[in-house]
Amino acid sequence: NSRWCLTGLTALVTGGTRGIGHAVVEELGELGAQVHTCSRNEAELSGCLQEWASKGFTVTASVCDVSSSSQRQQLLDKASSLFDGKLNILINNVGTNIRKPTIEYTTEEYSMIMATNLESAFHLCQLAYPLLKASGVGSIVFISSVAGLVHIGSGSIYGASKGAMNQLTKNLACEWAKDNIRCNCVAPWYIRTSLVEHLLENKEFLDKIISQTPLRRPGEPKEVSSLVAFLCMPASSYITGQIISVDGGMTVNGFS
Ligand code: NDP
Repeated sequence: NSRWCLTGLTALVTGGTRGIGHAVVEELGELGAQVHTCSRNEAELSGCLQEWASKGFTVTASVCDVSSSSQRQQLLDKASSLFDGKLNILINNVGTNIRKPTIEYTTEEYSMIMATNLESAFHLCQLAYPLLKASGVGSIVFISSVAGLVHIGSGSIYGASKGAMNQLTKNLACEWAKDNIRCNCVAPWYIRTSLVEHLLENKEFLDKIISQTPLRRPGEPKEVSSLVAFLCMPASSYITGQIISVDGGMTVNGFS
């Protein structure tokens, strides 16, 4: 049933070599999409490409630091030439963090987190817009965080970058609906990836996470990528402008 697959669709996924982005590339590939991805590490990218080819997925890749404006432009030029000027799916997945008390952040740290998490996603949407429009059916998914909805002690700049991303989702959903481009946002709680593995290794911290989470465990990348894929399918064609948490119930857990 074509409502529940992505056959024939083209996708750009940022940060596909590890964690959530890696799971998203595989999920979209498995469902039949043609995927282009990127990261900053050429060796890791080519390892992934081999793995994906052996699994039978159609994936290509560029080395790109999405915090650089000129590299973002090159990434979109590449995707445009690969996909004949048309793109169905844009997944803004790259994100980073520096955890410290607010008064300790430097100007450079502010700029780096904002450029990586927010400015990159904003500009990639601008660059992808003509391609998404040209495809006739477009879907943008932002990977935000529950840190953009509630305080989780992960640092105020990260929270601000994700909060802005949540609102950007709503603005673009309304502005680009006329072009048949939907725009949604996925907000995860702790997911086992290289970004947070060092935190989850700390038993005391892990116990604290578990105690706040009704499902009593962190999530897995595959538990995020399934929602991302759904939001790109014809099956979700009336869903736009939404921020959906993938959090084991954390954000609705008032007191227990
Ligand atoms: P990881 O750090 O595990 O993976 C990040 C991926 O993005 C890697 O492939 C990395 O490759 C790539 N990447 C990082 N920086 C850049 C850059 N500047 N340009 C291009 N590629 C880059 O992260 P996660 O999978 O955990 O996180 C993915 C998203 O999910 C982020 O937006 C994060 O904020 C969000 N999130 C994660 C949560 C979690 O608990 N893991 C919770 C809530 C949200 P390389 O470093 O080689 O470039």
